[in-house]
Amino acid sequence: MVISDAKSGIPMAIAYGMSDSTLFGNFTQLKKLLKKFETSQNGAKINALLDSMRASSPTRRPINAEDRNSWILNHPSALTMFEDIMSASKGKQIVVFLDYDGTLSPIVEDPDRAFITTEMREAVREVAKHFPTAIVSGRCRAKVYGFVRLSELYYAGSQGMDIKGPTKGHKHRKGNQTVLCQPAREFLPMIDEVYKVLTYKVKCIPGAIVENNKFCLSVHYRCVDETKWGELADQVKMVIKNYPQLRLTQGRKVFEIRPTIKWNKGNALEFLLESLGYAESNDVLPVYIGDDRTDEDAFKVLHDKGQGLGILVSKTPKETNASYSLQEPSEVMHFLKRLVEWKKLSPPSH
Ligand SMILES: [Mg+2]
Repeated sequence: MVISDAKSGIPMAIAYGMSDSTLFGNFTQLKKLLKKFETSQNGAKINALLDSMRASSPTRRPINAEDRNSWILNHPSALTMFEDIMSASKGKQIVVFLDYDGTLSPIVEDPDRAFITTEMREAVREVAKHFPTAIVSGRCRAKVYGFVRLSELYYAGSQGMDIKGPTKGHKHRKGNQTVLCQPAREFLPMIDEVYKVLTYKVKCIPGAIVENNKFCLSVHYRCVDETKWGELADQVKMVIKNYPQLRLTQGRKVFEIRPTIKWNKGNALEFLLESLGYAESNDVLPVYIGDDRTDEDAFKVLHDKGQGLGILVSKTPKETNASYSLQEPSEVMHFLKRLVEWKKLSPPSH
């Protein structure tokens, strides 16, 4: 039976806390934390956040052919336009940035099972032989590395807040196994605390999963029945409003909770370009491929610079700062393979 937290308040907190002492560690501490939320429980209403959850559900947005055609005209396929794109990039150093979920791996119900295929891994490995290559993900760096397992790449985990260079030597390597950038380090204890509170708060909502991404958190609701979305949105908002230093954004069937510091995937992209020595260079062509709202920050950087290629992975028209599109991970893989083939056929630039 699911008991509404708003009705039962702290007594239920105690019951759950006691049943899961290993997760929450110091129970007294958790009790204190939960007390903060009690006063704001009642009267919570389904609000803008719920509307946003519904609006981002594709089943609610039938796409007509005319909309799709006009969107494709403005965001043509990066595969169809491949030759044109590449002829405009002659002599420039390509740097490849790849989101993980929904870009290299399919979106799956269980976020722990978002595996990359062997073929995709090989495609990324080949790309990294020819171009500096970075994975930029909302996941914690260790987790995304666990999926990709290529030590020759740069990894920017936690929405770009945890950046590390390649640990396997090759010509693009920079530094020596060091963490390059962790701008939100001071937020670690707070994120950890909110992870524990949120895990407790949403455990009565079937299908809700809180993922600790080290410098940020994700609350996945892909497997939550839509009738429970309002309750979930309320719980998440209620917790976050006690932490003004954190902010809440929404992705594909996921809430993202992160520090309010101005640092996102766009900053990670700029940081990596600078690390590679291309801060003010016109001789670089950053290629960023991603599928989510968080990738828009990176697309916007490229758009504002008037430099590089933003490629949105999407089957449906979406408002985006990307210039090109690919429909799904299999198309991303073909694009990466063509990039390698093109490089092999190109005369050496130096
Ligand atoms: Mg993604």
